[in-house]
Amino acid sequence: MPELPEVETFRRFTEQYALQVPVADVRVLKPKILEHTSEADLRQALIGSVLTRTRRVGKHLLAQIDPPSAQCSQASTPPINSPLINTPPDANPAQASQWLFLHFGMTGYLSYQREGQTIVNAYGNPALPQAHIRVQLVLADGGLFNFHEQRMFGKLGLTADADRYFQARKLGPDALTVGPGTFVNALKKRKGQLKPALMDQSLVAGVGNVYADEALYQCGLHPGRSASGLSLKEVTALHQQVVDVLQRTVDVAADRTRLPAHYMLHQRHPKAVCPKAGHPLQIEPFGGRTTYFCPICQS
Ligand SMILES: [Zn+2]
Repeated sequence: MPELPEVETFRRFTEQYALQVPVADVRVLKPKILEHTSEADLRQALIGSVLTRTRRVGKHLLAQIDPPSAQCSQASTPPINSPLINTPPDANPAQASQWLFLHFGMTGYLSYQREGQTIVNAYGNPALPQAHIRVQLVLADGGLFNFHEQRMFGKLGLTADADRYFQARKLGPDALTVGPGTFVNALKKRKGQLKPALMDQSLVAGVGNVYADEALYQCGLHPGRSASGLSLKEVTALHQQVVDVLQRTVDVAADRTRLPAHYMLHQRHPKAVCPKAGHPLQIEPFGGRTTYFCPICQS
């Protein structure tokens, strides 16, 4: 399931392949994937327009759509794979019309292909099936920018205001850039177990099941601990691990096979063992989600 590092990888992929090229056509292969948006509205907003910048908070990705009349005022192309989460606003934001939003659900991903050339997946993983394309942008340079979602939990549509879109989803600060003070305060106020708190998108946005388990394992905290009962030292260490795990995964473009050998996420299978000490891992639900943890190393 795409979490923050995967969606950040999608954001960079969108910048690399889909920005600043006019959209020649839009193919909606599964209209049910659209949310609060008709196929006709999507086509009208996109055809002849260009995507000019991206924004991401947590697992939500938006791309700004500038209609043909606004394109003459465009500044230079933003840098590819920019380390910024939000590319800088253009000189005259008043001309901005709409945003395309993408949410990747359980199995969503992006790919790009030029006629006659090999398809490129956002994760760089050639094993991903090239099926389940739900929406395809046909770009004026001949590129095809594809939104795939096998299980149809993802959504795509239009929104007029990016800030309102994020606010309506009650998203907390982005987990990659949240400061230690904000993180400590958020957990202190939270009742209940630690792992569900970490996955609460209104507390910090972007941490899902796999990276919550990883951050807890790396700092030796049991997922069932009380969120508000951690010492300052423990919660500070957890903040560092959350940011570190997410950043490392962003740095390898969400290719989990390139993450360090001491990461537990390589062990998500029934015979899992603790990568640091070989203890058998425990698999148990917390907050309704399958959780892997080491009963010896995490307390
Ligand atoms: Zn262990």
